[in-house]
Order: sequence, then C-alpha cells, then structure tokens
Amino acid sequence: VHEFTLTTERKTQLIDITGRVKEAVDGRSGSAVLVYVPHTTAAITINEKIDPALVADLERAFEKVVGDDWGWVHDDADGPNGPSHGRASVAGAQVLIPLREGKPALGRYQAIFLCEFDGPKPRSVYVTVLQ
Ligand code: ZN
Repeated sequence: VHEFTLTTERKTQLIDITGRVKEAVDGRSGSAVLVYVPHTTAAITINEKIDPALVADLERAFEKVVGDDWGWVHDDADGPNGPSHGRASVAGAQVLIPLREGKPALGRYQAIFLCEFDGPKPRSVYVTVLQ
C-alpha cells in the first residue's frame, strides 16, 4: 500500500487527487488500482474536473443530500458531526479503477476526488495496485 497525506482547508471540500494517485501507480503492473480513505468523515469519488463551478456545486449537493437539521444525536471528539459521517457513507470510502497500459483508465473528464466532510483535517489516502 502506498500512502500519501494532505490537509484539507474547509468543512466540505472536494480535492482533486488524480495526480497523486497517478504518481503512486506509476511503473507498477496490475489490473486495477484501489483508492481508499481510512476515515469515517471523508470519502473518495470520481467526477468531472473541468468546471470548477461543478466541484463547488457538488460540495453544496453533498451538504443537502444529508441534512444538518435531522436531529443527529451522535457527538464525539470532533463534536456533533453526524452529518459528516452520513455524507461520507453516501460517497463511499473507496473507488476501484481499472489499469490500462499501466495507468488508471479514467475518462477524459474524470478526476479522482478526496471528499472532505468534516474539515479542516489532515487526511491519508491509501493507493493499492491489485494484481
Ligand atoms: Zn463523529
């Protein structure tokens, strides 16, 4: 497993990590790459990177898909962050991307995003090339 870290800057933030994933995969042979976050209030997703307005739209959409005002009871060391956990489960902790000629077979408009739902925080991403 190759691990890299980054620090998020906002409560809800999608960060393009495609370049970091490609660096981690570079030169390794396998059938697919698994990109995973070992966190319960962050996630990984694939979406369009071309239009920054869309990335901001998606951040707002995730905040509406799981409401802050749903009467959450959960409270932990990070505070009452139940909605952050809900958003992380909606997006999921991992994506699996086939490798083609040693590179992630992403579509022209696709990018891999770390989804922060309880930032700002330091986060880890695990990149595993599957044989
Ligand atoms: Zn919590």
